[in-house]
Amino acid sequence: MTADPAWLRQYTPDRSTAPAIEHHDALSMFRAAVARAPDRPAIHYFDGTLSYAELDARSDALAAALIADGVLHGDRVALVLQNVPAFVVGLIAAWKAGAIAVSLNPMNRERELRLLFADCTPKLVITHPETFIEAVQPALAEHPTVHVLITFARDDQTRNDARVLGALPPQAPPCPGTRALAEVIARHRGQRPPPVRFSADDIALLVYTSGTTGLPKGAMNRHGNVAFTAQVYRDWIGLSEADGVLGIAPLFHITGLIGHVALVFLLTAPLTLSYRFEPGVMLDALAERRPAFTIGAITALIALMNHPSAQRDALSSLKAIYSGGAPIAPAVVAAFEAKFGLYVRNAYGLTETTSPATICPVHLRAPVDPAFGALSVGVPTYRTEIRIVDAETGAPVADGEAGEITIRGPQVVAGYWNRPDATTDAIRDGWLHTGDIGVLDGDGWLYLVDRKKDMINAAGYKVWPREVEDVLYTHPAVREAAVVGVPDAYRGETVKAVLSLKAGAELSADAIIAHCRERMAAYKVPRIVEFIPELPKTVTGKILRRELRG
Ligand code: AMP
Repeated sequence: MTADPAWLRQYTPDRSTAPAIEHHDALSMFRAAVARAPDRPAIHYFDGTLSYAELDARSDALAAALIADGVLHGDRVALVLQNVPAFVVGLIAAWKAGAIAVSLNPMNRERELRLLFADCTPKLVITHPETFIEAVQPALAEHPTVHVLITFARDDQTRNDARVLGALPPQAPPCPGTRALAEVIARHRGQRPPPVRFSADDIALLVYTSGTTGLPKGAMNRHGNVAFTAQVYRDWIGLSEADGVLGIAPLFHITGLIGHVALVFLLTAPLTLSYRFEPGVMLDALAERRPAFTIGAITALIALMNHPSAQRDALSSLKAIYSGGAPIAPAVVAAFEAKFGLYVRNAYGLTETTSPATICPVHLRAPVDPAFGALSVGVPTYRTEIRIVDAETGAPVADGEAGEITIRGPQVVAGYWNRPDATTDAIRDGWLHTGDIGVLDGDGWLYLVDRKKDMINAAGYKVWPREVEDVLYTHPAVREAAVVGVPDAYRGETVKAVLSLKAGAELSADAIIAHCRERMAAYKVPRIVEFIPELPKTVTGKILRRELRG
């Protein structure tokens, strides 16, 4: 018999280590919320509010319309939308019609959407007029039978906040060959789609992985995956029924889909949406709606912290704040706590784990690894196993040694849409091979050392960019930092730092090199330092190291 894994020792004392799973599909989770509290707010959008009953009625009507348009069980319905109420209506309607919802980044350009549409072959697309004109329409040129419904970001509110909605025209521009979502819903209002039941293994979502490496692949998140990770968030963060959530992550990304949308269904709580992330708008939403929880990329939390109108009590309604998706420098956590009196905890996961696989328990502070200086990303959540293996041989390594993180549990996706080879490569005997390099310590805490492919090899010395970035962030003038390997005639690769500085700060390359030299072995110190105003990021806030390699 093997001993209990060490991570169980970090669990919140009064909670079960393997609780019953309450829902087996995402649609029943939503239906339970409607039955429990139909009049409770489900979505706040600026000054507008939709109740659970209204969300139910609109998604019934839209599901009836989808079926009338020929959408069949297992067909794909693509949402190419910002954080608007129509995203949630479209998601539930897709499920009520028996379809799979595909959430696509509205920042995608035509070329990217063409590839994505060719892969997921949607029957119907819901998008914004400007996204339609610029990208969706040309990308659908070879798919004339695809239905398109248009929703206007100014719908469902009257405030028209100029900071995020200001650039949009007062009226939706004409979009030939499409129908307006609001009109379609009005026409079918009162109709109900035939009952649909999903098993835990049915696919709820196709979510294309962030694309920081290689061609995007559609991760098949099952209904059981979604219901499970929503429950993990609720239990691990200790949220109660009706605790509101602030939507700072984009809804098309897995963090927004689970840590915002699915979570509020389970809590029967309101989700506050604001079209897209803008720190001043988010601070106002915090004051107005008093949410209990949010999760987002650390770059978003840094933007909240540095906003001129951010007061010390701005986050006082939050029971907890989490960050996931990208590394967090301990210096940033310290600065955030000094500013707001709130400790940022880490969650780690992938699209392929339907959001979190490890979370820093809400009653603990994450340790910092003495060797790498990295903040732990938490411990495996209940019913989840993590094994660190040799990236070449696949053999487990000893506690405290770096290797590839592999994950097994109810959150691991069914695989990649249309990509059996990529699926067998990534998921072996139920273990997801993440491509992340990490260390599990003897107490069950996981540390991310880096992505496998980001490792810099300087004349045989391995340099993990994360470690160098954490040191760069300890310099008070540094706002954002990225470290990449660049070709070097002598060493094969050498270390390059790309920095953006805080407003008004000054820093020379020599000064930051001296700062690093004091704090790390010579081979890790950046040989090249470049200053730019803003680092390139994915819309989810992940710094795009790849773009900095040139
Ligand atoms: P995505 O599929 O877009 O969610 O990206 C998943 C990747 O983001 C993981 O493989 C990690 O490399 C990275 N990631 C996720 N969470 C964290 C975290 N807490 N700290 C550092 N990197 C993270």
